[in-house]
Amino acid sequence: MTWNIEIENIDLKKLQYEESLFTLGNGYLGIRGNLEEISNDIIKKHKIASIRGTYINAFYDDVKIPYAEKSFGYPETSQKMLNLIDTQTIKIYLGDELISPFTGEIVSTKRILYLKKGYAERIMHYKSPKGKEVLLTFKRLVSFKYKELFSQEVIISPINYYGEVVIISTINGDVENHVDKSDPRLSHNHSKCLHLKSHQIYKDYAYMLSQTESSHLKVAVFSETSVNCKNKKEISFNNNEIITKISFNLSSLTKVSKRNMYFDSLRYGEDLIKNTLLKFIEARKITFSELIEFQTKYLQLYYNNCDIEIKGNEHLQLGIRFNLFHLLQSVGKDKYSNISAKGLSGEGYEGHYFWDTEIFIFPVFLLTNPNIAKNLLLYRYNTLDLAKKRARELGHSKGISYPWRTIKGTECSSYFPASSAQYHINADISYSCILYFLVTNDLEFMLKYGAEIVFESARLFIDLGHYNKNGFNIFGITGPDEYTAIVNNNYYTNVMVKYNFKWAVKLYNILKQYNNEFKQLTNKIGLTFAEIKEFEKAEKEMYLPYNKKLNIIPQDDSFLDKPMWDLANTPKEKFPLLLHYHLLKIYRHQVCKQADTVLAHFLLEDEVDIDILKNTYHYYEKITTHDSSLSSCIFSIMAMKIGEVEKAYDYFIDTARMDLDNTHKNTKDGLHMANMGGTYMAIVFGFAGLRIKENKLSFEPKIPREVESYKFKIKYKGRIISVYVNQDSYNIELKEGKEIKIFINSKELILGNKIKTIESK
Ligand code: BGC
Repeated sequence: MTWNIEIENIDLKKLQYEESLFTLGNGYLGIRGNLEEISNDIIKKHKIASIRGTYINAFYDDVKIPYAEKSFGYPETSQKMLNLIDTQTIKIYLGDELISPFTGEIVSTKRILYLKKGYAERIMHYKSPKGKEVLLTFKRLVSFKYKELFSQEVIISPINYYGEVVIISTINGDVENHVDKSDPRLSHNHSKCLHLKSHQIYKDYAYMLSQTESSHLKVAVFSETSVNCKNKKEISFNNNEIITKISFNLSSLTKVSKRNMYFDSLRYGEDLIKNTLLKFIEARKITFSELIEFQTKYLQLYYNNCDIEIKGNEHLQLGIRFNLFHLLQSVGKDKYSNISAKGLSGEGYEGHYFWDTEIFIFPVFLLTNPNIAKNLLLYRYNTLDLAKKRARELGHSKGISYPWRTIKGTECSSYFPASSAQYHINADISYSCILYFLVTNDLEFMLKYGAEIVFESARLFIDLGHYNKNGFNIFGITGPDEYTAIVNNNYYTNVMVKYNFKWAVKLYNILKQYNNEFKQLTNKIGLTFAEIKEFEKAEKEMYLPYNKKLNIIPQDDSFLDKPMWDLANTPKEKFPLLLHYHLLKIYRHQVCKQADTVLAHFLLEDEVDIDILKNTYHYYEKITTHDSSLSSCIFSIMAMKIGEVEKAYDYFIDTARMDLDNTHKNTKDGLHMANMGGTYMAIVFGFAGLRIKENKLSFEPKIPREVESYKFKIKYKGRIISVYVNQDSYNIELKEGKEIKIFINSKELILGNKIKTIESK
């Protein structure tokens, strides 16, 4: 049972959480796991907490940001991922009785998410108030083959009821986004941004077209409902809904099929209906079982590259697979899209893309599906001009400044201390471009896209920083830890910028051999040799804070001078702190929301020796609340690094089961994508100790007592390398590709086709 998520019984209080878990998607389209029979009118009538959601990655509206006191350079508008036309509803009447959990009896029910087959199923034994019993099987799938297709099926089997059945299947254009004023991580306003423009009813199917208020993007959905027995069908339009009514006589097992296809004008242009009708006509012919067959093959390939098998704890195994499945379902696979903080599973953070992509999710795809990873970087490249414009708004005469949170590439945050001030995002994106190059050797990418990002980012930091007696400093910025803001010399930022400078120089030297292409690039951005010299000097003189007395790295210049937050005496219900204390109070204390310096020590470990690394880890561990879901995975990786294997395991449990166990209590607003990437990273970089440096691939395999064994594969420079570790030994093997030098526990060896590295530990 390590490939299925199963939930028995229906608990209406937990509906929102289950809706997130059972989200289906394919990187383009995402559908929350809502119940077919609990439509919007029923939600309102019975005051149920449910968020019905349908989303297209990168489909947004521009919304005004309201400010009481607006200063220069604050963004005027934000983008918001919109909740789209709702096609999930299928109501069923047994004669004159509506199947509903509020009237009849649910004798038994069970929901299953099939991670291998890529679809969800809900089986329900239902008894109406008049005693009519049927067995219903609801199936749903968002296709990897036809990315616009959301397919549903309901199988109705009579138990004691034979007679008239009426199906009411709807397309609802009256949809809104979820708002919640009590949580800064959720949207506070602009619930209604999508308006119904037109619809058309044909003989068997219909479409509805809506448009956003400000961005003027259009979305159209085609939908068809049918049953596999003699029936009477009528399609009508009433009050923003297209209603398909089908009546038939239930005499044996009967199948209701609903096919919905979502198209948007970003991808299909203004003439949306004309450009897409044929696609719908083609896709409506395909059967549900054919779709499952394709999903299974597609997922087999995916898992073949990225599955992690862990023996000894089925709960954790399921958690790992659940997380990998949702990452694939959420990640954008075209030039318009990226992966938002909650994927396509909910409206938390309004569908925005953050640094979560580069530091927590990108590495997973890089080592398993490099094409998807490349697409994530291309998305950033495509928004480079907007990042340039933003840098000028922020007062920089050169370089780029990527938005902290965005969909189309412009800044969406109204709170600059925890957004625009997080300049590290530019160094993070550069870091990922470099990592991509180190893992793939893709020179063409670097020449065409990656190097430009690295150079432009280096330029920004030259403009941002200044020299004083300590060397090159960066003042007035915010590091990753959002419980500290606007500081001088945040270690994480400085060390990442140092690396950015170092690689700007390196890339200049590597790429200059490719005369023509490189000239094109330097001409395009006007890069001079004098600038390369500037990068070189700033790298050498970069100031990195260090505290001699404690032999640790301070998070920034003033961090260690602040009083400690009294975590031991902070009541449990006051977490996360951000929901209970004014940020100013938090900022004045030594308390961390998430890994900051500890993360820097993972990404760039060679800057310090192991003692500093250990002391620093222990220092910050005591004052980190992990109020951010991006924290536990990094602490797990670094606990492993310093040999605290059991602690690493505890942090790992937090990451692997975060959404399944709803430990952050906000899974209802969507799944935590960065953490899901962190689960993979905690095994690959944590347990197995993988590090990727220039021409150096190394492992330090470890295993917690509670785990019997684990294994996974990675792709590296055209090779496939498998790693297997159990309690007594490990085996690192070259599965495909040319032999390669690697390091295991600092020992150099050549990994060849016939050479295995079975070692006793
Ligand atoms: C974290 C950020 C993160 C954002 C989106 C916040 O809680 O502090 O680092 O980027 O969530 O996941």
